[in-house]
Amino acid sequence: MSTPVSYYFLAEGCSYFDVHAIRRDFPILAQRVNGYPLVWLDNAATTQKPWAVIDRLSSFYAHENSNIHRGAHQLARQATEAFEAARETVARFLGAPSSNTIVFVRGTTEAINLVAQTWGRQEVGAGDEIVITYLEHHSNLVPWQMLAAEKGAKLLAAPVDDTGQVMFDRYVSLLTPRTRLVAFAHVSNALGTVLPVREMTAAAHAAGARVLIDGAQAVAHMPVDVTTLDADFYTFSGHKVFGPTGIGVLYGKPEVLTAMPPWHGGGSMIRDVTLERATYQDPPARFEAGTASIAAAIALGAALDYLDRLGVANVARYEHELLAYATGAMLTVPGLRLIGTAQEKASVLSFVLNGHHPDEIGTALDRHGFAVRSGHHCALPILRRFGLDATVRSSLAMYNTRDEVDRLVMALSRLTG
Ligand code: PMP
Repeated sequence: MSTPVSYYFLAEGCSYFDVHAIRRDFPILAQRVNGYPLVWLDNAATTQKPWAVIDRLSSFYAHENSNIHRGAHQLARQATEAFEAARETVARFLGAPSSNTIVFVRGTTEAINLVAQTWGRQEVGAGDEIVITYLEHHSNLVPWQMLAAEKGAKLLAAPVDDTGQVMFDRYVSLLTPRTRLVAFAHVSNALGTVLPVREMTAAAHAAGARVLIDGAQAVAHMPVDVTTLDADFYTFSGHKVFGPTGIGVLYGKPEVLTAMPPWHGGGSMIRDVTLERATYQDPPARFEAGTASIAAAIALGAALDYLDRLGVANVARYEHELLAYATGAMLTVPGLRLIGTAQEKASVLSFVLNGHHPDEIGTALDRHGFAVRSGHHCALPILRRFGLDATVRSSLAMYNTRDEVDRLVMALSRLTG
């Protein structure tokens, strides 16, 4: 069963966060890879799972497994209660007004496609405009390209400056009465830039547009409150916030979700059906056709509860200090160029090293137990903006330490030396 964590101890110079106790909650972190202790610095791709999540998954399958919502027996009731309790947990975690605003999906990609193909098909017409930014992950670009092509709408992208931050004035100048939707990342997965999402949302609303925020890289690193942000849609993936793969969240304002047509048909998304036609449930059931990832949703609830116990604000503070430390340390490596140096950043250190292809660095680090990513990080437009088609990306989470950063810097220095 879950190892309890004690978090108000002195560790790594922090009086509010015991990173070593937290690491003990994540069994995979004790592993050796290629003969070296694993240093997991690929958190932007996916995060590791604490016992609280692993145990919740296995106890569901060991004791509670049933399909939900449609059975009259004990296990069906129990599984349904646990699934709906997870929805409540997500709503609380996001500061959403009610659990009816939380739609369970497979992940961020599915959430954005859902919005494009339901809200988008209904609300976007020929000559309308959708605004994104150069920083977007392909998952927050391609669905809008597809919608724009289908509808004869225009897709416009706000440029970024040399630090990797959105040029706010240029962004505002793209907003017109034709703008139907603005979609942007809360945090860039390729550079780590934290976008000024509150200000960007307010500007979009002033122009009469709806706003979708891709929170895939935000929720594990900072407190998020969709009500304060005033987002119309907010999306994230369970696996990037210490939960399982195959589960994610679409938050939508109640009045926006209620006005949206369904996407996938089938299962219990119907209110009634004849051979000729169907009527549909209210949200969120309207958007949850077919059997959900029941265990994964319940375990996502456990992940968010775990994070809540640590305190997301504590996590943010710890990570902020660690990122500042890592940024300084990385800059001591000869020939290293950081890509993405915005004032506001979270988690990500993207870099290139003179004379070495990113893949070569990724492979060399892997031999010493470091898991980093090399490549385009599914965000090609922003890398091209910096004249690149690949970087090495190390991305931090709350269980990473200064010691791991030091070892990374040492390994990189050896490569260049
Ligand atoms: N948006 C961002 C900013 C991401 O970092 C990712 C994952 N790398 C996605 C969207 C897509 O998430 P998923 O693959 O979980 O659907």
